[in-house]
Amino acid sequence: MLNIALFGPPGAGKGTQSKKIVEKYNLAYISTGDMLREEQAAGTELGRKVKAVMDAGNLVSDELIVQILEKKINSLQNVNGILFDGFPRNLVQAYILTGLLTKLNTELTCMISLEVPEEELMKRMLKRAEIEGRSDDNPETIRNRFKQYWEKTAPVEKFYKEMGKCVTINGVGLVDDIYRRIVNAIDQCL
Ligand code: AMP
Repeated sequence: MLNIALFGPPGAGKGTQSKKIVEKYNLAYISTGDMLREEQAAGTELGRKVKAVMDAGNLVSDELIVQILEKKINSLQNVNGILFDGFPRNLVQAYILTGLLTKLNTELTCMISLEVPEEELMKRMLKRAEIEGRSDDNPETIRNRFKQYWEKTAPVEKFYKEMGKCVTINGVGLVDDIYRRIVNAIDQCL
């Protein structure tokens, strides 16, 4: 299986690039953020539980993340691999990922980390707020999401770097140019 984690701060372009990568390599797509938003939209108990946490830009508990991930992974059949977007978000989740993939007799092929300066990220997210109207794309929540990222999520990159499994890509430029950089990086991991 080809298992990729697309990594980067909020606004790095993970969602945009994921769509293209999933199509090229025929992968199942797992975005924990999308799954949580779907739970909210469907009005489930889990959706209600996570709303305040997400609106404040904090991380949802690892227990709830495991719940939605297990449900999703168990529903996958005959897949070529999985693209993870927005997971793992902290070191505990990195260990959870190893466990989930071991159960499937596989492992993470590589992590692709998109690097984008913070001023550019803020600009992109405020633009996205106008287009998509996500309730967590307002300046105050965005600032907290960056804080959460630097405190809890950024160490995950170092963890995979030390394992020799993380490639950092320049995430600034045209969508197609960034996509080509990602494809080159994935092909080198194969
Ligand atoms: P995203 O769509 O990836 O930007 O995620 C939006 C929000 O969902 C985050 O700010 C968190 O509140 C929550 N979230 C998404 N993925 C995770 C995760 N793996 N662990 C904890 N919280 C998450």
